[in-house]
Amino acid sequence: MTSLSAASSELAILPSYFQGQWWAPESAAPDAPLARDATTGEPIARVSAEGADLPGAIAYARGLGQRNLGELTFHQRALLLKQLAIFLNERRAELYEISARTGATEKDHLIDIDGGVGVLFTFGSKGRRELPNAKVMIDGPLEVLSRDGSFLGEHIYTRIPGVAVQINAFNFPVWGMLEKFAPAFLAGVPSIVKPATPKGYLTEAAVRLMLESGLLPDGSLQLISGAARDLLDHLDYRDLVAFTGSASTAKRLKEHPRVVSGGLRFTSETDSLNAAILGPDAVPGTPEFDAFVRSAVSEMTAKAGQKCTSIRRLIVPEQLRESVITAISSSFQERVRLGDPRAPGVTMGALASLDQLADVRAAVRTMVAAGGEIVYGSLEAPAVIRQDGSEGDAPGGAFMSPVLLTWPEPTTAAVHEIEVFGPVASVLGYRSLDEALDLAARGAGSLVATVCSHDPLIVQYLVSGIAAHHGRVLVLDRDDAHSSTGHGSPVPHLLHGGPGRAGGGEELGGMLSVRHHMQRTAVQGSPDVLTAVTGVWHPGAQRRFGETHPFRKSLAELRLGDAYASPLREVSLQDVSDFAASTGDTFYAHTNAEAAAANPFFPGIVAHGYLLISWAAGLFVDPEPGPVLANYGLENLRFITPLAAGDAFRVTLTAKQITPREDQDYGEVRWDAVLHNQHDEIVATYDVLTLVAKTQARVSAETEASLAV
Ligand code: NAP
Repeated sequence: MTSLSAASSELAILPSYFQGQWWAPESAAPDAPLARDATTGEPIARVSAEGADLPGAIAYARGLGQRNLGELTFHQRALLLKQLAIFLNERRAELYEISARTGATEKDHLIDIDGGVGVLFTFGSKGRRELPNAKVMIDGPLEVLSRDGSFLGEHIYTRIPGVAVQINAFNFPVWGMLEKFAPAFLAGVPSIVKPATPKGYLTEAAVRLMLESGLLPDGSLQLISGAARDLLDHLDYRDLVAFTGSASTAKRLKEHPRVVSGGLRFTSETDSLNAAILGPDAVPGTPEFDAFVRSAVSEMTAKAGQKCTSIRRLIVPEQLRESVITAISSSFQERVRLGDPRAPGVTMGALASLDQLADVRAAVRTMVAAGGEIVYGSLEAPAVIRQDGSEGDAPGGAFMSPVLLTWPEPTTAAVHEIEVFGPVASVLGYRSLDEALDLAARGAGSLVATVCSHDPLIVQYLVSGIAAHHGRVLVLDRDDAHSSTGHGSPVPHLLHGGPGRAGGGEELGGMLSVRHHMQRTAVQGSPDVLTAVTGVWHPGAQRRFGETHPFRKSLAELRLGDAYASPLREVSLQDVSDFAASTGDTFYAHTNAEAAAANPFFPGIVAHGYLLISWAAGLFVDPEPGPVLANYGLENLRFITPLAAGDAFRVTLTAKQITPREDQDYGEVRWDAVLHNQHDEIVATYDVLTLVAKTQARVSAETEASLAV
C-alpha cells in the first residue's frame, strides 16, 4: 500500500500528492529532513517538497476540487465520508503497522487511527441528520423587514470559494488530518493536507488509502510531504488555513502578510497547559480519587504524553499532595511497561524522535532549575523492552520514563508557562477553591480541564470559575468514570480548541466546524426569492392548491409550496368536555367557566391546544395508502390565539422542505402548518414532519420492515 513498503537500497523521498498524481522531487538535498522509526532510529524516508508546484496545487483545488465538491449536496458528501470511514476501518491494520514505527502502542493506534475513522463516521452521520440535503444552509430565524411581509431577510451559509490548507502537528498523523478534512469535505471545500515532517509517512499512507478508495472527487484532497515554507504566500481571502502545532509557529504564521492584510482566514490549535483539579471531597478511598489518579497516569503515558490535551498540571488540595504523588507513582510502577510497541505487553512507547526527546529533557531541566522537584522518574535513558522481547537500553529509540514533578511554590511561572511535550506533569497544591481556580487560569487559556469531585456545589463553583479559560471541561466522578471518553480525547460532536494560549481555534465541534468552512451572508428579498435561494418554502411565497392532495404526491412529484387548505370546523363546549374527560386533562381553562374567564389570557372556556392539533390532523390528512409513509413528529409548535368553545378553525398545510435520503427510497417532508380561526387570526403554527416515498411505487420490503421497527 504505502510507497515506502517497496523498500529500496536508496532511501525513498516521501511523495506528495498534487493535481491527481503522486509526486516527489528527483532528489533531496543532503540536509533534507529524515523520517525515522522512533523506536529504533532506523531511517524511513527523506522528506522534501522542494520544487513542488504549490500554486498549481492550489489552483487545482480552487478549480476542479471546488467544482466537483460543489456538485454534491451536504448529504451526498456525508455519505461519502461514511463510506470512506468503512473503507479505512477495514484497513486499519495496515496503518497500525506503520503507526508502530512512530513509537505508538496499540492503545495509541486506537486514539490516532480509530479516532480518526470515528471522526469520519460522526460527520458522515451528523451531516445527514443535521444538515439539509442541499448546498446552502440557513442560519437563524427569518426577519420580516416590511409590514406586508413582502420583504424578508435571513442569513445563509455557503462554502468558502477556495481551499482549506490543513497544517498539522506531528503527534496525530491520522486523527489530526481527519479531524480537519471531514468538516471541510462536508462543507464542500477541497483540502490540502500538510502533516508535520517527523511522522508524515503515516499520513502519507492514510492519504494513499483514502485515494485508493476511489470515493473522493478529484481535487478534493492533496498532500504536501515536506516543509513547504512558502505555502501561505500563494493563498488569499478565498482560502482558509487551519493550523495545529506550537504557539511559536502559530505566531509566525499569524503574522504572515496574507493573514494580516490579505484576508486569509487563519485559525490555530496550539499548545496548552491543561489542568486537572481534584476536589477537596475526593479524598483517598473515594471513587473520584481513584479516577483522578487513573486519568493522570493515562494522560501522561498515552502517546508518551505527546498530546496537546494531556494533563500537564495536577491541581490538588495541599493536604492531599503527598497522597496523590504516592498513588500516581505506584500506578506507574504497576502499569507502565516502556518499550518497542511491537513487543508484547508494552504500554508506553517512544517519543517521536531523538530531537523531541532532547527537547523534553531540556524543558524538564529548565523546570527543575525554576524550582520543580522530580518525585517520580528521571531523565536517564531507561531500560526498555526491545522488539524481540529482551530488556535493556535502546540507544536509537526516543524513550523516556514518565516524570512527575511537584512545586513547593505552586504559582512559580515556569510550571504555568512551559509546555513539556512528553510524559511529564506537575502536582500543585491549593489551599482554597479560589486558589485552585487561580492556578488553573494561569495556563492563560487551555484546551481542556478536568474537575474531579462528587460534590455538586464544588463542581458548580469550579466549572463556572474555569469555563471561560477553557474550550472543554470534563467533570469526572463515580457516575461517569466508567463511561467517560476521558480528559484527553476531544470528540467530534463537541468543541475542540480553547482560548488564549490554546490558539482560539475550533477544528471539531460538530456543525460549528463545518460552518467554519463557510461564509455567512445576509440575504434580503421577497419570500419567493428566499425560497428559491434556500430550497425552503418561506411564508408569503407562492403556494399551489391543486386538485391533487399533496399527500398523494411522491417526492418525485411534490414541489415546495404544494399546499392543502381545509374547511372550517367548529369546536363545541361538548367537544372540549369530552376531550377533557377522555384525556384526563381537566385543567380549569377547559372545564370551569368562571375560573377560565378570570384568567388574563382566556375569554372563558377554551379548547385544548392538543385537541386542535389532533383535529387539524383529521382535517388535513388524506387517509388512503399512498406515498406518505409515516408522521414522525412535529416541531416549533406555538399556540397563539386561544380558541373559545363555539369558535371554529381551519388548517393550511404547505410543503416547506423536501429532503430525499440518499441511501433510502424515501425522504423527509417538512410541512408548514397554520391554524386560523373564523376571524382569520392565527391560532397555532408548527411544522409537521413526515416520511414520504421517492416514487409512487411501493417502497421495498426492507424499507417497510425498517419503518415498522
Ligand atoms: P510545530 O513545530 O509548530 O509544527 C507544526 C506544523 O507546522 C508542522 O506541520 C510544520 O511542518 C508546520 N510548519 C512550521 N513552520 C511552517 C511554515 N512556515 N509554513 C507552513 N508550515 C509550517 O509543532 P509540532 O512540533 O509538529 O507539534 C507539537 C506542538 O503542537 C505542541 O506544542 C502541541 O501542544 C501542539 N499541538 C496542539 C494541538 C491542539 O489541538 N491544540 C494538537 C496537537 C499538537 P514541518 O514539520 O515540516 O516543519
